[in-house]
Amino acid sequence: MQEPLELLFEAGQWVSVPFGPKNVRAYSIASPPSSRERITLCADVAPGGIGSAWFASLRAGDVVEFKAPFGGFVFRRDDPRRPLFVAEEIGIVPIRSMLSDLFETGFERPVTLVYWGRDPSWLPYHDDLVALAGRRADFAYHPVVESGGDDWRGGRGAAADAVEALAPDGGHVVAYVSGGGAMIDRVREVLVARGLDRKSVRWEKFW
Ligand SMILES: Cc1cc2nc3c(=O)[nH]c(=O)nc-3n(C[C@H](O)[C@H](O)[C@H](O)COP(=O)(O)OP(=O)(O)OC[C@H]3O[C@@H](n4cnc5c(N)ncnc54)[C@H](O)[C@@H]3O)c2cc1C
Repeated sequence: MQEPLELLFEAGQWVSVPFGPKNVRAYSIASPPSSRERITLCADVAPGGIGSAWFASLRAGDVVEFKAPFGGFVFRRDDPRRPLFVAEEIGIVPIRSMLSDLFETGFERPVTLVYWGRDPSWLPYHDDLVALAGRRADFAYHPVVESGGDDWRGGRGAAADAVEALAPDGGHVVAYVSGGGAMIDRVREVLVARGLDRKSVRWEKFW
């Protein structure tokens, strides 16, 4: 980072990259807040607009401009309920930062992640998450795809169905959901039907 020399932010927040006076794109920070001098961003360039083209064109050493931090999709530690994270594809980015932060700094409650992608190649950080779940008994990882080969060991179907199958106890859970609006809406419906109030379903809509 050139100037300022470090960035203070909360896990889940994003940076704003300018493309002209009234045009910006948001990118969540994938790295945890403990890393102040170097942040990691992670993008899906399939949408193919100016943000994707900018990302795809970046080369090591390029100087980039952005404003940060922004956003209220941040983990609330003072909430005593169990967190249920739900991510769709690249929507994993802010949740990856939150999970790294929680496990780095110590967190005493069980943590669950449902992570959906159209197929396994659309699940960035999947291998890291499998490894994390192998190391930590308090982290339950439920990867789910629409279609996967015979070697796929996770679930199949929709994100909302995987959430439903977990039968979360509405009174003791708080949800953090990130990805596309349609998925967020369906997951919220499932959770509200299980007794969560709408405010207990926190979300970050990427598209
Ligand atoms: C708070 C926030 C955080 C975000 N964090 C990230 C991030 O960490 N990584 C990242 O890759 N993107 C992230 N996005 C999305 C990002 O800001 C851009 O929308 C994305 O890069 C596409 O920009 P574009 O200019 O290439 O395409 P555009 O021309 O802006 O978009 C084309 C269309 O694709 C839709 N779209 C955007 N992203 C996706 C997607 N992944 N899958 C399907 N449709 C999509 C848009 O809504 C639009 O309809 C975030 C968005 C928000 C609001």
